[in-house]
Amino acid sequence: MKNPDPHDFLALEQLMDEEERMVARTVRELVTEQLAPQLGDWFEKGEFPRELATEFGKLGMLGMHLSGYGCAGMSAVSYGSACLELEAGDSGLRSFVSVQGSLAMFPIWKFGSEEQKQEWLPRMAAGEVIGCFGLTEPDSGSDPSSMRTVARQDGDDWILNGTKMWITNGSIADMAIIWARTDEGIRGFIVDTTTPGFTANTVRHKMSLRASVTSELVLDNVRLPADAVLPGVTGMKGPLSCLNEARFGILFGAVGAARNCYETALDYTMSRTQFGRSLASFQLTQDKLADMLIRVNRAHLLALHLGKLKDAGELTPAQISFGKKDNVAQALHVAREARAMLGANGITLEYPIIRHMNNLESVYTYEGTNEVHTLVLGQSITGMGAFR
Ligand code: FAD
Repeated sequence: MKNPDPHDFLALEQLMDEEERMVARTVRELVTEQLAPQLGDWFEKGEFPRELATEFGKLGMLGMHLSGYGCAGMSAVSYGSACLELEAGDSGLRSFVSVQGSLAMFPIWKFGSEEQKQEWLPRMAAGEVIGCFGLTEPDSGSDPSSMRTVARQDGDDWILNGTKMWITNGSIADMAIIWARTDEGIRGFIVDTTTPGFTANTVRHKMSLRASVTSELVLDNVRLPADAVLPGVTGMKGPLSCLNEARFGILFGAVGAARNCYETALDYTMSRTQFGRSLASFQLTQDKLADMLIRVNRAHLLALHLGKLKDAGELTPAQISFGKKDNVAQALHVAREARAMLGANGITLEYPIIRHMNNLESVYTYEGTNEVHTLVLGQSITGMGAFR
């Protein structure tokens, strides 16, 4: 029997169909051949090049798992595999695609009117229009139902007031999905970012997700026409259903960051010599490599299983929490271990590890913190909520 491939130890490619393998290969090539050489620079400068949006659009990666309106209509496993390969480059790349497809396009696709779908989705799928998703506020994070942003009716119009915080793509977005309190409950609004009263301020001094734009959004008497509201949903199930879509992308994406850290540590320890031997020949190093190999492959196996459940229409929010919580925790563990295995080189942007490690701190917190997903699992298995 052949020795297993250290880069696909469990032969997980066999669990994917031809289209899913093709998507993974295409995105992997884009990342390794075109984007990887620039990722360290983008991280250092704190920028996300806007032209990537149209590049991703051409490859059908925006709203990839949605159907119609210019979207690629691919399987959940294909979408997840694209997220995995993007995050093997940088979590910022995957965050852009997650926000655009799952948080900005999905609510229009799921809850929008036919006119809203026609107006926004084709241009967003092409990357010509960038979207963002405003749920979190300065005083309302894990408990978004406590939001203060309010929309009141004035004749046929809506007037929005409030502040959203930590909004990915905020300052480069052409449109924002804003969740606001109304007399009937929480509703979603499509806001053109050129509307008077709308301001986006970029968050500076981040040490994580630097190749991704994060912003504060201020809504000061933003007047919107009656047809700006998403007609198909009222209440927290609107934003929560979008978050489920995005969390699904994260549980795949985290595997990519972990895989890249493991592969970098493997290459590095194979070629670096200390005490007259390669680092990889020491038992202590092999213990770490074997542990990383197991974590990366187990996380990928879990992601593919959850992807197949999603394609079968059977994936539940609690199962998504299982995947998001554990895969991100595993990835963070692998990244920290890999960081140490590269010694001093582990702290420079010459290698991808410190970037992944810092990025994963955000991924651990956003889209439901590790603790929030623990509480979701606790509630699911006991029937008792411990959130408040
Ligand atoms: P808090 O809710 O204040 O939590 C602080 C700590 O308390 C955490 O450890 C948390 O787990 C813990 N905690 C909270 N409640 C409980 C409890 N009941 N029991 C035990 N522990 C608890 N939001 C958007 O709307 N759109 C975006 O595009 C977006 N992008 C983001 C990008 C980045 C880089 C980051 C960092 C965040 C982004 N967010 C976005 C916001 C993100 O979703 C929130 O940061 C997250 O929900 C946590 O909220 P918080 O930061 O206010 O922390």
